[in-house]
Amino acid sequence: MSDCIFCKIAAKEIPSTRVYEDDMVVAFHDLEPQAPVHVLVIPKKHVESLVALRQEDRELAAHILIDVIPKIANDLGIAEEGFRTVANTGDNGGQTVKHLHFHVLGGRFMKWPPG
Ligand code: AMP
Ligand code: ZN
Repeated sequence: MSDCIFCKIAAKEIPSTRVYEDDMVVAFHDLEPQAPVHVLVIPKKHVESLVALRQEDRELAAHILIDVIPKIANDLGIAEEGFRTVANTGDNGGQTVKHLHFHVLGGRFMKWPPG
């Protein structure tokens, strides 16, 4: 989508600090980190949110959850002590960027519930 900032990050039209990339996915540091480690994992293709995923996105969704997030957590050294994965969805979910993204937060204790 032409005016989507995360599509522009995926296309390298906007700079980001990448920690991981493959043919389906990009992960980069959040601009306003809420924890010592705060990375966003996005699909390269534009999907608005979790509820916009379709049957044909099964491989993509599984890849993100099974392969990419655990690998990033390991690589960034937060897997052992634990981390939080969040996908804000829609307005009540607090989603401000309408391109599916998974926050991966670690390096400190995460309180529950969030605000
Ligand atoms: P959400 O509120 O779940 O939609 O999260 C959007 C996240 O994107 C926020 O944590 C922002 O800090 C982050 N963000 C927005 N623009 C950028 C950018 N250009 N590079 C990195 N992170 C960004
Ligand atoms: Zn997009």
